[in-house]
Amino acid sequence: MQQGTRSRQGPVRDPVDGTRSGQAGGSAYALDRGRLDELLGHAFPASGTRDIRMPWTDRFFYDAPAADGRDVEEAVRKARVAQRAWAATPLRTRRAVLRAFRAELAVRGEEALDVAQLETGKARRDALEELADIALVGRYYDRRAEELLRPRRRAGVLPFLTRVWELRKPHGVVGVIAPWNYPLALAASDALPALLAGNAVVVKPDLQTSLSALWIAEGLRRAGVPDDVFQVVTGDGPTAGGAVVEHADFLMFTGSSETGRKVAKRAGERLIDFTLELGGKNALVVLEDADVDRAVAGILRGCFANAGQLCISLERVLVHRAIYDELRHRLELAVPTLAIGPGLTYDIDMGSLISEAQLEKTRSHIEDAIERGARLVSGGRARPDLGPWFHEPTILERVAADSLAANHETFGPVVSLAAFADEDEAVRLANRGTYGLNASVWTRDLGRGRRFATRIRAGTVNVNDAYGPAWASVDAPMGGFGDSGSGRRHGADGILKYTASQTVAVQTGHPLVTPAGLGHDLSARAVRAWLRWLGR
Ligand code: NAD
Repeated sequence: MQQGTRSRQGPVRDPVDGTRSGQAGGSAYALDRGRLDELLGHAFPASGTRDIRMPWTDRFFYDAPAADGRDVEEAVRKARVAQRAWAATPLRTRRAVLRAFRAELAVRGEEALDVAQLETGKARRDALEELADIALVGRYYDRRAEELLRPRRRAGVLPFLTRVWELRKPHGVVGVIAPWNYPLALAASDALPALLAGNAVVVKPDLQTSLSALWIAEGLRRAGVPDDVFQVVTGDGPTAGGAVVEHADFLMFTGSSETGRKVAKRAGERLIDFTLELGGKNALVVLEDADVDRAVAGILRGCFANAGQLCISLERVLVHRAIYDELRHRLELAVPTLAIGPGLTYDIDMGSLISEAQLEKTRSHIEDAIERGARLVSGGRARPDLGPWFHEPTILERVAADSLAANHETFGPVVSLAAFADEDEAVRLANRGTYGLNASVWTRDLGRGRRFATRIRAGTVNVNDAYGPAWASVDAPMGGFGDSGSGRRHGADGILKYTASQTVAVQTGHPLVTPAGLGHDLSARAVRAWLRWLGR
């Protein structure tokens, strides 16, 4: 074991052989070959397959079905047929079905954690946050859907004579395209409000995390979601994802800004609506009056959760110069105490990166920063002794403004530390760049924290926490400014976007046309008088 970072190497063996991994206290489930095949049976039938490897060992895990454009077209066609009956089902029935799914999650969730861990290499506590997300979002929309989706009376143009209702119609088939980093949550949480609103859903997960999405599909089926209403098409991004973009009626895309642009372009051409949840280069600001103990704990979680592969994690830590040295020293001591390693138990703080590509990106950001004069405060090394894609949680300081780590999302466990002189400079540094997803500010003065938050250009800002409160407070919308996306999940927006509004206006008495016999001049005069009244 290298000096510096406490590692914990559980006895990771091939779970496909049925051998448990990790220590006592882990889950009671084993994922044997039979169970794997059962889960894979929930994928929409596809013409090809792709090898999926396990990040902890880089050994073969399973063959994922790889759908081509025609497979996806067929999945969407079937979903469109099934959607009609689903939309005609009373909302209370749809709610009951999705409640049964949440109950299923509570009972069998440990197995889902195994699945997500084995195909991402993440720590179990990070996987557990995924289940929390699904439960929070599911419960929220279960409680709010009736009120948000019910027909509403609107003011008519002529009081008493024009009666107007606003109705909410499902789009039809919602395409959910999801990345690999939170594969359970991102397959389920955006789908639940879409289903409640009466849509069918076709999910295209990242190929590497097909099994997690299939676990969700199985859970929904067991809970009573009718056949074809929720489909999972597994496959390559441009092929299967591209076909979802081509055929769905609404797109809920989560992923990189680069792919998001392509999706938006095609959706624009097709004139369909979409939501984009994209990347970030999020800043955490520690003001001089912050509680340093809490800030250090917040930085550890906020920067290294899911090994930094979290869109709302913080990659830039800005500290008031009065406490900079103290905070850096505290981090120097604290970061090496994080337990990193493989295993299906909860005593590990940070798991592996998912792939060689993520490891290479992490390394290149560190190397580039050091070449341009940065100094390592902690970490900095890959950890092949723990598994092929492990990397130490890493803190850099004096990162040059033109370096990769300063400007581009690393999506790995790399954080740059910088000092600021006053609030204005902190705001300027935090708002640097084109992203605007999440931010965090630490201060003992809560009023000051709220005022500071309003100056930050980001879709969510957490005061005295890293990302948890804004993410978990699902009554409030969540999403990005600038290159971090458009549209929102959570809150009223998070379900209404899955519907198109329809206005039904009933005119009682005379229609809105000039009464016969009034004559053109007289009617024009009447309209002008009305315009004068409107202009008052
Ligand atoms: P990615 O854009 O490469 O892939 C995301 C999904 O899009 C995958 O399912 C992929 O197969 C699919 N895809 C790829 N090319 C496609 C195409 N041409 N047409 C349609 N679909 C296509 O993203 P990634 O690198 O896998 O994920 C990491 C990124 O996701 C990071 O930037 C991260 O910040 C972001 N992310 C954002 C949020 C959020 O809520 N804002 C959440 C998680 C991750």
